[in-house]
Amino acid sequence: MIAEVYVDIPARAVDKPFDYKVPDSLEQFIRPGMRVTVPFGRVKRLGFVTALKNHTDFTKLRNIDQVIDHIPVLTDELLDLGRWIADTTLCMTITAYQAMLPAVMKADYGKVIQLENTEKLKDVHPDLVPFYSSGDSIKWEDAVRSHPEKLNEINRALSDGTLSLHQQIHNQARVKKIITVTPAVSLETLEEAAKSLNRRYKRQREVLDFFIHHPAASHVLADLVNRYGLSREAISHFIKKGVLRKEKQEYFRDPYRELNQVRTQALTLTQEQHAALKPILHAIESDEDRVFLCHGVTGSGKTEIYLQAIQRVIDLGKEAIVLVPEISLTPQMVHRFKGRFGDLVAVMHSGLSRGEKYDEWRKIREGRVKVAVGARSAVFAPFSRLGLIIIDEEHESSYKQEDSPRYHARDVAIYRSRYNRCPVVLGSATPSLESYARAKKNVYSLLLLKERFNHHPLPPVKIVDMREEMRDGNRSMFSTALFNLIKDRIKKKEQTVLFLNRRGYSTFVMCRSCGEVLRCPHCDISLTYHRTEQLLKCHYCGYAQQIPQTCPACGSDSMRYFGTGTQKVEAELNRLIPEARIIRMDVDTTRQKGGHERLLRRFGEGKADILLGTQMIAKGLDFPEVTLVGVLAADSMLYLPDFRASERTFQLLTQVSGRAGRHDLPGSVIIQSYDPDHYAVVDAASHDYETFYQQEMQIRYRHGYPPFYYLVLIRITHTDPGQASVAAGRIAEILKRNLSSSAQIFGPVVPAIARIKDRYRYQCMVKYKKEPELLPVLRKIIGHFQEPGKNSLQLVVDINPVVFM
Ligand code: ADP
Ligand code: ZN
Ligand code: ZN
Repeated sequence: MIAEVYVDIPARAVDKPFDYKVPDSLEQFIRPGMRVTVPFGRVKRLGFVTALKNHTDFTKLRNIDQVIDHIPVLTDELLDLGRWIADTTLCMTITAYQAMLPAVMKADYGKVIQLENTEKLKDVHPDLVPFYSSGDSIKWEDAVRSHPEKLNEINRALSDGTLSLHQQIHNQARVKKIITVTPAVSLETLEEAAKSLNRRYKRQREVLDFFIHHPAASHVLADLVNRYGLSREAISHFIKKGVLRKEKQEYFRDPYRELNQVRTQALTLTQEQHAALKPILHAIESDEDRVFLCHGVTGSGKTEIYLQAIQRVIDLGKEAIVLVPEISLTPQMVHRFKGRFGDLVAVMHSGLSRGEKYDEWRKIREGRVKVAVGARSAVFAPFSRLGLIIIDEEHESSYKQEDSPRYHARDVAIYRSRYNRCPVVLGSATPSLESYARAKKNVYSLLLLKERFNHHPLPPVKIVDMREEMRDGNRSMFSTALFNLIKDRIKKKEQTVLFLNRRGYSTFVMCRSCGEVLRCPHCDISLTYHRTEQLLKCHYCGYAQQIPQTCPACGSDSMRYFGTGTQKVEAELNRLIPEARIIRMDVDTTRQKGGHERLLRRFGEGKADILLGTQMIAKGLDFPEVTLVGVLAADSMLYLPDFRASERTFQLLTQVSGRAGRHDLPGSVIIQSYDPDHYAVVDAASHDYETFYQQEMQIRYRHGYPPFYYLVLIRITHTDPGQASVAAGRIAEILKRNLSSSAQIFGPVVPAIARIKDRYRYQCMVKYKKEPELLPVLRKIIGHFQEPGKNSLQLVVDINPVVFM
């Protein structure tokens, strides 16, 4: 038997399967998707078996060293998916496989073999008894070094459960065990033992009595001692005498233990919800790999639709994945799923420890749960009977991974839905233009929810023109209207959310008198301020100009770079309204684990009047007492050098406005803007997605951006700026020569951040519609230019990029 193995060395030269001979003794254990150790060069490496076969073209094969897993960690589907990700995102196959697994399963060469069953060791594997004379775990390395001849015996003992194998990266990465105690003898024998026990041994008597009154049950040792007050010594005494038996059992860490699990029932759906759910259920039942786009205003009850669809999936004996953006994965959100499906839910997000993540992953792989809720990487949940994938807030840019593998969770979800013949539901109040355009072309099925579930209207939104405020002599960061409303809410004991968008600050230059922002004459993209050279530059085409002394539109001399932060706003509020109780939420105040939740809980309990924060408060918050939402600078993101700047602004303003007046108290929203006539601001204020979509699509069409064209971004970096520049120029040339005339190649240009960690950066961009040669050409470019070693030329090819800096 021959195994094809991908070795965990992320280098292009070894990005292919290597053939290894499977020793006879391993033939019956080994399966594709398992991790193995193999000799590679002069070292041992970890690898993934991707196929087994009987034939090879190579004559001198080395042996597989050991098999690490007892069930494949990568299912056939995931093996397939990994190859597809490598092909379509141009990453290395091993990188794709590693991305699908919890971090603790990554290559690590320290492992321990744990004794699970002492009786069996004596009976079935007497040869191994000496290994466990002084403890119940040994190091894998020690066993390999001192007794290589015993390895196959160890492997047999591993597969029949006598022993188990664990990574030894960190202790928490191991399967946790608890000790349980059970009677080892019959009830009669227990009673006899109790009778014949000398009266003086009161503590021993208690132990026997306990097991006589709780027959046939196994108890956690810690509980016996702590809860039932039994003596640890007395228990040990009976274990030694063979009256009681001690066992180790697997224990799953549960990060949500503390959540009080009040179970919820399915709600009676509104007509709109019902109409949206019906086709999803139909697709689930008839195994259709349809993609639904559920476009529902904030508060329309999309989550309830997800929950009821998942219920059907579970009833059919299948499994579901729910993706939620990392910042929305709050306890509130988790509770909505745990509340409905209890222990059938695994949750995966970055706040968990490595061990907790591993345990959640195992619950999925072993079929102990039916629902996986998590951020981007949960799309790889190793279910084997997948029946539904839901992507909430599908427009979020965090669904695209920014490191290799640069995959988009939406694409992976659609791939898996085809493989499993199951539907995908994309949900959003502000769908991405790409998805909405596909829905309009009937590639996706559109589901519409136009009303909030309680038929409350969306809150009225007032746009305040900050230029006028300034002309009227108000130089503070609060408009008169917003300031008065904040004071009013404090008087009424209602709550306010203030949103400050910090992204994009001080990268663009704007005139404070007329709102003019300097743009590239060729690209309709704002120019970015480069501090070192004192120049304004376009990141798409490379155009550059001096910073003008006076505004080219109105002639005033108040051209400014923007810069303000939450701390400054808080200080200003304290000065203006000293009695206001403020909770500030930003990267500084939420750095600690759980800080985010603590602050939100305090706000929810009414311990503050104002919640002031950045992006992280835009989503998912549902507080009944919030009746005012203020957006301090709506347009700070509008001029980022990114063709999606308007779309992001519209999405954010819509999300933020949705936080007001969700329940009984009516709410209002104030948006402060220097560009109050910008369609992204105006359309968000009137809750008009459709109009925004039409306007934005025209602009995308005119400038040849997605969804009309596809983009590829090629980043070239080198410690030497000259070499980076030369290579970038040559790459642009190669692209021009090899792609069709309908493809446009831009650059090379220097991006906003011209140097990171002493590496100089260049980038080229390709715009194209249909280019069958693109991937092969890019692959060749990578093969030719990418150099090994840290101080050399590095290439990043980003297909369908979402970040352009
Ligand atoms: P969305 O995700 O679309 O913004 P949610 O799913 O968060 O909306 O729903 C908002 C609120 O409405 C939640 O508190 C939810 O429990 C409630 N809700 C949704 N559907 C119903 C329904 N059919 N009956 C009663 N309450 C509902
Ligand atoms: Zn330009
Ligand atoms: Zn001006």
